[in-house]
Amino acid sequence: MSGKLSCSAGKCVNNINGLCSANNIHVVGSEIHSSKGTECETFMQRGFMNAMSNFTNMNLVGEFKQIFSRDSIEMSPEIKCEAENCVYNADRLCSASNVQVYGPDARSSGGTQCETFKEH
Ligand code: SF4
Ligand code: SF4
Repeated sequence: MSGKLSCSAGKCVNNINGLCSANNIHVVGSEIHSSKGTECETFMQRGFMNAMSNFTNMNLVGEFKQIFSRDSIEMSPEIKCEAENCVYNADRLCSASNVQVYGPDARSSGGTQCETFKEH
């Protein structure tokens, strides 16, 4: 079970008020030594076609719980992650209790990064 995630990539189809509505995300960045080498590969720019193709990866239960909770994060994805140099990486799953994905200007996954990366 991954922890709570917040995300500043506002142009991503999965971003709802700074939270991620995907069921699963994939963070890439093998052989890297800082946040800069990481990317949220699941980023998809907003748009009708992307909203449709993304439908199967929507966390509907999490979205529903989040409606009733303003103060806590109820909606967070499972995080698969290739950044094996990160202390939070456990068999390619993220074990951090709070993850911050950064990407306020991102128009593709290349503009995002995991701020929580911490090298071993
Ligand atoms: S960039 Fe990644 S973490 Fe952020 S909302 Fe999109 S899919 Fe979720
Ligand atoms: S905190 Fe580490 S293990 Fe978790 S998603 Fe970010 S880089 Fe991957």
